[in-house]
Amino acid sequence: MIDFHALAEKFETPLYVYDFDYMASQFEALKEAFRGRKSLLAYAVKANSNLSVVRHFAKMGSGADCVSIGEVRRALMCGVPKYRIIFSGVGKRDEEIVEAIDADILYINVESEAELMRVETIAASKNKVARISVRVNPNIDPQTHPYISTGLHANKFGVDLESAKRMYIRAKNAPSLEPVGIHFHIGSQLTQLSPIRESAEIVADLVRSLAALKIELKFFDIGGGLGVRYKEEQTIAPYEYAQAILSTLTGLDMTVVCEPGRFLTANAGYFLTKVLYEKRNGDKRFVVVDGAMNDLIRPSLYNAYHHVNALGKTGEASAADIVGPVCESGDFLAKSYPLPMMAHNDLLVLESAGAYGFGMGSNYNTRGRSAEVALERGEARLIRRRESYEEIIANEKEFLEL
Ligand SMILES: *Cc1c(COP(=O)(O)O)cnc(C)c1O
Repeated sequence: MIDFHALAEKFETPLYVYDFDYMASQFEALKEAFRGRKSLLAYAVKANSNLSVVRHFAKMGSGADCVSIGEVRRALMCGVPKYRIIFSGVGKRDEEIVEAIDADILYINVESEAELMRVETIAASKNKVARISVRVNPNIDPQTHPYISTGLHANKFGVDLESAKRMYIRAKNAPSLEPVGIHFHIGSQLTQLSPIRESAEIVADLVRSLAALKIELKFFDIGGGLGVRYKEEQTIAPYEYAQAILSTLTGLDMTVVCEPGRFLTANAGYFLTKVLYEKRNGDKRFVVVDGAMNDLIRPSLYNAYHHVNALGKTGEASAADIVGPVCESGDFLAKSYPLPMMAHNDLLVLESAGAYGFGMGSNYNTRGRSAEVALERGEARLIRRRESYEEIIANEKEFLEL
């Protein structure tokens, strides 16, 4: 049992709390599922990029899947070895490509023919060889929320099979490129196995046809996307997941690379917020809290559900919208949520807040971002200070003309 009251007292609210032991057990469960096969788990840093979180996974032998050079720097800083770092993302600036090549990471995931040409040109100008993989868009509907679906041609991610083939042929013939991997990532919060299996089959077939052209790839990168339970979702067991992938790889000797984000961190996280007051507009009941969409945007952005625990409160529950102070009607943490009568300073704990929570935060309404706390073996420690007003205005202050 986590003593949320004590944490709220000590670190104040709004506050993110992460159970590091839970993160470790999720990591081990997935690692175990791929046991006996060559595999690399590369934590998707964007899910929760706090340095202490990245370091926690690095210590367990994790790699890092990064979607900006900033994330690559975080991974290196936290001790992830360069040969376990992957740089993905649909758009990369030249400076980012230069730095990734200089850092000698495992490979750059390329998402378009135009990008392949940039990487080729940049590597050639430096007299270096860039290791690459191509992100294939298998045009499979992942059956998840449209905002987190990435594996359809209607999404901006990856390239179709024909383009991928052309890109590999080009890469093979380019002295400054070395194709080493193939990648797909069809979406996030996946709860159905069949789209994953179908995608893996399509991509594995492409690997075989490339092998016939003497293009031998080492890394079969299946992206992330494993769903978690927020409410009542059916989830995919790591073992079933691994078996589905491995079953498509018969006859291929490849290292499976998996890039889990949400699976490792979502249910390790709690968002703590205090009640400011109750209010009614006509028949409608609102519970106004000190946390807001700038702290946790998932409800506003995806209509995401987070289980809310009104700690220690009893009494008859009735539906309330839990809303923050931000000046947007879209600023809510829950809609029509059954809650007992709440009073000033009561604590609400939103569960499953460890992925895409803090990292999507902003300073909207000049609100400092929350503090973050790690729980490990019964000990709580601060891993990020609450952002101050001075920090928010730091980059503007010098330009103020009075
Ligand atoms: C976001 C992302 C991931 C992680 O997705 P989860 O759903 O959090 O597991 C993995 N790989 C790539 C390329 C991504 O963009």
